[in-house]
Amino acid sequence: MSKAGIRLKKWLGLEKQSRYVKNYFYAANMRASIYMSAIVIILELWMIARMTKTVIVEHLQSKFWHIVDSYYSNYFILLASGMLMLALALRFSRQAVGIRWLGIPVMIFSVPVCVFEVWQISQYRPDERDPHALVNYIILLCAGLLLVFFSALLLRGRKDRRWESLSVLYLFSFVCINFGIILSAHAYERGEQILTFLTMELFVICLLIWRPLTGFLVLTGSYLIFFERIDMLPAFNTGTVGITESTQINGFTMWLSTLLLCIANYRQTLSQALKDEHLEKMNRHLREISVKDDLTGIHNMLYFRSEAERLLGYVTTDIENVVYLFMDIENFKSYNEKYGFHAGNALLIQIAHTIEKTFKGSLVSRFSDDHFVILTSRESCMERVAQISEEIKKKQREVHLELKCGAYQPGGDERDPSLACDRARFACNSIKKHYDRSFRFYDKSLEDRFQLKQYIVNNIDNAIANGCIEVFYQPVVSTKSGQICGLEALARWRDPTYGLLPPGAFIEILEEYRQIYKLDRCIIEQVCRDYRKAAEQNMPFAPVSLNFSRLDFELCDIVGFLAEVVQKYDVPKNYIEVEITESALTDQQDFLPDAIRTLRKNGYNVWLDDFGSGYSSLNVLKDYQFDVLKIDMKFLSGFETNQKTMPIIKNIIDLTQQLRMISLTEGVETQEQFAFLRSIGCDRAQGYLFGKPAPLSVLRERIRCGEISVSKEFLNA
Ligand code: C2E
Ligand code: CA
Ligand code: CA
Repeated sequence: MSKAGIRLKKWLGLEKQSRYVKNYFYAANMRASIYMSAIVIILELWMIARMTKTVIVEHLQSKFWHIVDSYYSNYFILLASGMLMLALALRFSRQAVGIRWLGIPVMIFSVPVCVFEVWQISQYRPDERDPHALVNYIILLCAGLLLVFFSALLLRGRKDRRWESLSVLYLFSFVCINFGIILSAHAYERGEQILTFLTMELFVICLLIWRPLTGFLVLTGSYLIFFERIDMLPAFNTGTVGITESTQINGFTMWLSTLLLCIANYRQTLSQALKDEHLEKMNRHLREISVKDDLTGIHNMLYFRSEAERLLGYVTTDIENVVYLFMDIENFKSYNEKYGFHAGNALLIQIAHTIEKTFKGSLVSRFSDDHFVILTSRESCMERVAQISEEIKKKQREVHLELKCGAYQPGGDERDPSLACDRARFACNSIKKHYDRSFRFYDKSLEDRFQLKQYIVNNIDNAIANGCIEVFYQPVVSTKSGQICGLEALARWRDPTYGLLPPGAFIEILEEYRQIYKLDRCIIEQVCRDYRKAAEQNMPFAPVSLNFSRLDFELCDIVGFLAEVVQKYDVPKNYIEVEITESALTDQQDFLPDAIRTLRKNGYNVWLDDFGSGYSSLNVLKDYQFDVLKIDMKFLSGFETNQKTMPIIKNIIDLTQQLRMISLTEGVETQEQFAFLRSIGCDRAQGYLFGKPAPLSVLRERIRCGEISVSKEFLNA
């Protein structure tokens, strides 16, 4: 269609409107109808009262039927249609229940009119009366019948129905205009103003919103009918038949201004509707993206939490049968490393949709990374998880992916989805690395561990403040002299409730909750304080190696903190060494190499801990510079039985020499192991053979008893 065509269509209001815009117009018209019908009702009641008073006071009994014919029936129909309109408009905007009873007065006013008009029509003689009168009877009868019909519908008390309200709106508008024409024609005959006609035109055309073409047709049609009607009447003052030129001009001006008002009204409402529609769309979009996971497009946790809470809140939900599942795809990191992030993401998207499909009708969302949570019914959940596991196996290519799933069944009054997810996750984590298990329900034994976990997370600050975190020291000996040449600081949590907790009970949890730096800072401070005490009391002390977590570098300025504390207690730099575990270095991160470099530049020795425990040990050696290489204790674990142990350790020791590093083997438990290490030139050894981690006082007691000795150089701190 040409541009001009489109423009014309727009002008006439013939453009296609969206459902939103249609509803907007409908709502606007219903709101306007409330005022309009209220005014009409008041007006009509007043007119009926006035008319009745005239009938009584002026003893017009002889003219009674004439008055009923000319006025009452029109008043009644207008009043009834006003009431019906008001009822429907109120029903739309308030959904009020009692409103339907307004149907009764509507009936009371319209039924007599119908009867009266039927009687009038039956009495009608064409030669006696003007044909206009017949048209009028028919119009009133039809309007009356429609009013009876719609008031009957109203009395049935359904919720808002558009076609019903719109039909009544058209009927009401028609009745108003018809009323205006008839009353003003009577008024014109008597030489009075035609105000009723103009008022009704303004009411209908300007209060309600019409598409311009409809407005034009209604307006033009009613003006033509009205003016044709009065054109046939003799003017009251002059007696000549036909309207004067000035009346024509006045009429035309009124018609034009009302039409323009109608168009302006339409255009303004339309632009408001379009603006609101746009806003609504934006809102919907925002709502959507706030509940959707960016990568996979399935729901995110925000949505999961609020929906889970809502679902569990329903009385109809069978809580006994509800279960939270937490899924984790083990080894997904390797898939990412091998095939790249892009392929990893593509696989995650596929898996997300497989889960969603398999758990159709349940609440499914992505928790984070390769973790998903589901709220579903207990029934057949294990089978469905197995099905998903199968699907993942089909897609894993050369990486061995393993789906692990933890399940938690909430108790009767538990409503907190976050805690439930935590428990399901806990059950899931408990079977990681257990290759024979892929599904576990959260049970009593897990509950105890879970409680401990919660306790650790919630109490780390208190524990530090109350001195519950202690440093145990484990000796490191020189293989040449057999004397202590270093100490490893290992944390212990002495808890009033749980007793003495080993690091295995809290390190991983603190790392998971990103609180580990608090503990490590506390250990740094205690070690430095221990050094100062020893120095002041002229007691032996040895260089202490501290375990730093990868997260320490990320969560705080651990290097800066160390410098501060070392300065505060005036500790020589060679008394502090830093152990960084090999697994911390496999992630490609930029801040760790920098931090290691800074530490070494600041004068601290940096050790590589647990060498050989991961898969890319040799790469780590290639990429970083360390002072000491600590060989993981798993190498020694097969010492007596495994033939390959000795040559492997020997080769690692040779390698450290070539790379000019000091070698240290941990986990030494027997004299044979120690003798072997000495024979192959390993520099240092650490293990239960020389002593378990213990408080400094215990270690000192052993030294005093001569059980173990300290290298001369460290006899005085
Ligand atoms: P790690 O750094 O590899 O520490 C050596 C662990 O092996 C210690 O366990 C020690 O008690 C144990 N061990 C030493 N010799 C032998 C032996 O001959 N045989 C056997 N079977 N085990 C031996 P612990 O104290 O339970 O510490 C466990 C882990 O907790 C440490 O492993 C370290 O990764 C972490 N950790 C301990 N303290 C801290 C700390 O203050 N900060 C951080 N970030 N991690 C810590
Ligand atoms: Ca260590
Ligand atoms: Ca170690």
